[in-house]
Amino acid sequence: MNDTQFPALDFKTVELCYNWPKKEEFFSNFPNYAGLFTYQLSPDDVKTLSGFNVNHYCVIFESLEKYSQADLSNLSAGGFFSINGIDRGHGALEDIFTFVRNRADAQKINKIRLCVNCDARDKNAFSEDEIDAFIERHSGTVALDPQRLSLCFQARRPSGMIDFNRRLASRRPEISKLIHMEPPEPLNEIENAVMFALKYGDPLLKNGTVAPKFAPEESGRLYLSALEILRSLEFSNIPGVFFISCPTCSRCRIDVISLAGRIYDRVRLIEKPLKIAVMGCEVNGPGEASHADVGVAGSIDAGVIFVRGKIIRRVKIGEIEDALMAVISEYVE
Ligand code: SF4
Repeated sequence: MNDTQFPALDFKTVELCYNWPKKEEFFSNFPNYAGLFTYQLSPDDVKTLSGFNVNHYCVIFESLEKYSQADLSNLSAGGFFSINGIDRGHGALEDIFTFVRNRADAQKINKIRLCVNCDARDKNAFSEDEIDAFIERHSGTVALDPQRLSLCFQARRPSGMIDFNRRLASRRPEISKLIHMEPPEPLNEIENAVMFALKYGDPLLKNGTVAPKFAPEESGRLYLSALEILRSLEFSNIPGVFFISCPTCSRCRIDVISLAGRIYDRVRLIEKPLKIAVMGCEVNGPGEASHADVGVAGSIDAGVIFVRGKIIRRVKIGEIEDALMAVISEYVE
């Protein structure tokens, strides 16, 4: 299948990642990513990452209380402000909006985000009627300009959050570009992937923004997981390696899982777009993975290296990994 059949991702619609300990390492390994996505940063991160080419970022405040107490004067150079954990305990939504807006305006920060608790099971959550009334009040005004406001309506269950945002966007299509999808609590990789897929598959939600959220123990590789999710959605323009391996069957001639794991460890930091396949058998592997730039398939006591489905080399079983890496190196250089 030709890559040009797949849509290109609008990078502005994806935010990576607040709860993420090795940002400097990431930007050192993937210097070209710094200018692509929007990054969620803590106020301290903004200083630490000033040497990297991070063009778009939002500064995360964990609560309205932290936002109200923060010294914002050092944060006026760029980015926008996102305030987490807003609920009815903080007062009326209109008053909260005015407070956040005024503090941001004082620092010449154009855009703000309100992350609002809308979990139907929580008595402190804002109701749909309250959200509707807020939008109605500002409809047609500059307050709802996507350059100035982002709205994140959160519920603990991903399906509840998606349903809430869908209902809202269908009633109020004028705010579909304002809607930011981000769970209040970490999701596992599959739940994050489902959230991405539902967002980009929905005409009313696809123009808003999204941020995955992973558990802290996974956060060492969190950025790679987010990129893998985007690649698996087959956007045509995600840099880095799109890794394919076969599910194996009775034809399988090699240990696909361990070979794939070893190769993945060697290629995961490649930034150039590249599809790599590890397939179980020579009979069907090259054909099944003919959309891969380069791949390997198992044979009897041997392996074959293929490029775009065409076998170019036959190697001994112990030489598969290095032979594949040699061809990959030619691509990457
Ligand atoms: S590539 Fe070969 S081993 Fe893998 S699923 Fe296809 S037929 Fe089975």
